[in-house]
Amino acid sequence: MYYLGIDLGGTNIAVGVVDDSYQIIARAKRKTRIPCDEGLIDDLAAAAREAVENAGISMDDVPWVGVGCPGTVNRATGIVEYANNLYLNNFHLRDLLQEKLGRPVIIENDANAAAYGEYKAGALKGSDNAIAITLGTGVGGGIIIHGQVYSGSNFAGGELGHSVIVCGGASCTCGRKGCWEAYSSATALIRMTREAMAAHADKKDTPIWEITGGSFDTVDGRTAFDAMRKGDPLGKEVVDKYLSYLACGVANCINVFQPDILCIGGGISNEGENLLAPLRELVKKETYNTNGSKQTQICRAQLGNDAGIIGAALLGE
Ligand SMILES: [Zn+2]
Repeated sequence: MYYLGIDLGGTNIAVGVVDDSYQIIARAKRKTRIPCDEGLIDDLAAAAREAVENAGISMDDVPWVGVGCPGTVNRATGIVEYANNLYLNNFHLRDLLQEKLGRPVIIENDANAAAYGEYKAGALKGSDNAIAITLGTGVGGGIIIHGQVYSGSNFAGGELGHSVIVCGGASCTCGRKGCWEAYSSATALIRMTREAMAAHADKKDTPIWEITGGSFDTVDGRTAFDAMRKGDPLGKEVVDKYLSYLACGVANCINVFQPDILCIGGGISNEGENLLAPLRELVKKETYNTNGSKQTQICRAQLGNDAGIIGAALLGE
């Protein structure tokens, strides 16, 4: 049995053929041409055909084609209702692609597809209720309840990154102020690192300034962690502040859902236990059911960027 999954992102279209042990055995890639129009269907179909060819199978060998797409993705109607970064509005992605490929197509929000991938083949495997958080440009969230993606009554649910943790706080891309995403994304960590450096611009001989070569432009999601490891109190201050926001959002997720497992992915999760061990301590103080025998496990996501492809491929399962 083979499955075909497409991860449609703001930069790339990544396609993979997945075998029945849920491993990607062949791939294909295209650039996403933005703004997207009907030419997107040609690009998706071409990449899908190339991946199938690379796997040495034919399109008839896959039961369906799964697509993970950013934005509000209505799985029931097959319409991408709104995806601002792709410039898509009420786009009939499923029907157009089905017609082109001659196979059934299933579409889902990309963060939900990634969570489903972790559930079927990664860190959330074996759980019943689970949450996947991705710390990247934004804070992506996917909720699995009783083995199914939960996206509310209108497919716009599950946007955990857009729950407010600081009322009236930092502006978010969604238009609200103080969203979790505005404090816990890699973008937010970079902003906090730069702010801390600017406030201590008189101490340019400190590790945080040395790592960055004295420039704000070279600050990334690792800078504060690296400075902390070199014993810089300013690096530690930024990391502690970041961790407190991250813990606040994670504790909110746990208090609402009490999942079996919550996994964290994205670039910042590469810090591994440097991030997760203090996070668990902070979250423990803020969550209910602290005396219960069953506690939410907080761990690192396992599939990296492949979660979206694998999850999309298995959507029909
Ligand atoms: Zn927001």
